[in-house]
Amino acid sequence: MSDFDLIVIGGGSGGLAAAQRAAEYGARVAVVESHRLGGTCVNVGCVPKKVMWYAADLADALGDASGYGFDVSADRHDWKQLKDRRDAYILRLNGIYETNLARRGVTLVRARARFIDRRTVAVGDARLSAPHIILATGGHPVVPSIPGAQLGITSDGFFELTERPGRVAVVGSGYIAVELAGVFAALGSAVDLVLRTGAALRQFDAMLGESMLKILGEAGVTIQTQAIPEALRGGPHDLRLAVRDGRQLGPYDCVLWAIGRASAVADLGLTNAGVECDAEGFIATDKYQLTSTAGIYAIGDVTGRAQLTPVAIAAGRRLSDRLFGGKADRHLDYHNIPTVVFGHPPLGTVGLTEREARECYGDDNVTVFKSGFLPMYHQLTSRKPRCDMKLVTVGPERRVVGVHVIGPGADEMMQGFAVAVRMGATKADFDDTVAIHPTSAEELVTMR
Ligand SMILES: Cc1cc2nc3c(=O)[nH]c(=O)nc-3n(C[C@H](O)[C@H](O)[C@H](O)COP(=O)(O)OP(=O)(O)OC[C@H]3O[C@@H](n4cnc5c(N)ncnc54)[C@H](O)[C@@H]3O)c2cc1C
Repeated sequence: MSDFDLIVIGGGSGGLAAAQRAAEYGARVAVVESHRLGGTCVNVGCVPKKVMWYAADLADALGDASGYGFDVSADRHDWKQLKDRRDAYILRLNGIYETNLARRGVTLVRARARFIDRRTVAVGDARLSAPHIILATGGHPVVPSIPGAQLGITSDGFFELTERPGRVAVVGSGYIAVELAGVFAALGSAVDLVLRTGAALRQFDAMLGESMLKILGEAGVTIQTQAIPEALRGGPHDLRLAVRDGRQLGPYDCVLWAIGRASAVADLGLTNAGVECDAEGFIATDKYQLTSTAGIYAIGDVTGRAQLTPVAIAAGRRLSDRLFGGKADRHLDYHNIPTVVFGHPPLGTVGLTEREARECYGDDNVTVFKSGFLPMYHQLTSRKPRCDMKLVTVGPERRVVGVHVIGPGADEMMQGFAVAVRMGATKADFDDTVAIHPTSAEELVTMR
């Protein structure tokens, strides 16, 4: 007989969700985790990132306050104190996750797991077996293969900084690069955002990336375009980034690589279990999260699909519903996943970009509605970041297939609109919805 009904490798967002849901159905479950419970999201991702975003947002608000008659400034900020308070909060969360596992009778094994065969994993000196094994090992930040790359840090290192570097280069164009550049800038660092091309946030609707770069520029971030790093040289407080066209960028106190994330599969012994990866090194899965080996599943970042915490959680819960809850066809639909980039201001998006809609449905079938305005809040502030919105609709019925917003409140706005898009709402449904006034969101139901 197997030791457990289910072994989950990785105690991050997806692994914990799958394990707890399975245990709720009465399954005997073990979670194997080699580091801190909660994984990337809790320890070096969403949670500490959002804390830093709040700090940066407060700095912006303090800067705006004079426009509302306040005599305050944000000249002094204690980064170390913020880090200590943030770390203490995360430690509390680590404890809560452990308690939650214990409450559901899930066995927590503190070790690194490695496959012996398709039903057995080695954890330290012990071996555990189960008919079902879920891989939820997540990923890690990529560092470029160029001389001196080790002189830089990644997002993991960002959360270890005990003081704010004065001059920073953030290398990358994805959401992590944009978010961390925004935090540094709002808290007072001189920031270069170093892009390989001329664009950022390329997987989102083009309007969003263009607006975000414009707003970052207005906030004092220098956008270095067409800059392909070739070497990082120098020492502490004198880092120089050599780029392909001969430019020497810097000097910097800190260079942060935010150029992508790779799957954490290196020491799992996947070949012992016959589990295959795709060309990019992520574990290949079908729509039921099944890998190339029966009984072994993968969820979350390690699959390379929509690398977001709620996606990992949703995939994990649905998988356990299917394996232990008698819901034979339960699986995650990866369409219409809403997401936010926590810039200053944030952007929120759900559904197809305008380009995707045109490719999918043809130009003649796509109608786009746009709006751009200065939010009321900024009528009285010296900063003037505009809010931009776009609705992408298809067909004669104008079904809304994409909602894209950058502006204050976009982060909180998007969840409800994602429900509408998922339910197949049309432009007429949006128009028939009474506006909430005065808000920015009302623009989405009053566009012409
Ligand atoms: C800076 C940053 C900001 C982010 N912000 C957001 C955000 O705002 N919103 C959002 O939705 N997502 C965000 N993400 C993404 C989010 O953190 C991930 O999508 C999510 O954590 C993925 O969950 P997971 O369960 O797949 O993997 P993880 O959370 O990475 O968990 C994997 C776990 O597996 C463990 N592990 C790995 N190998 C082994 C092994 N062999 N044996 C035992 N244990 C092992 C690891 O220690 C880790 O704890 C952010 C990520 C980063 C880096």
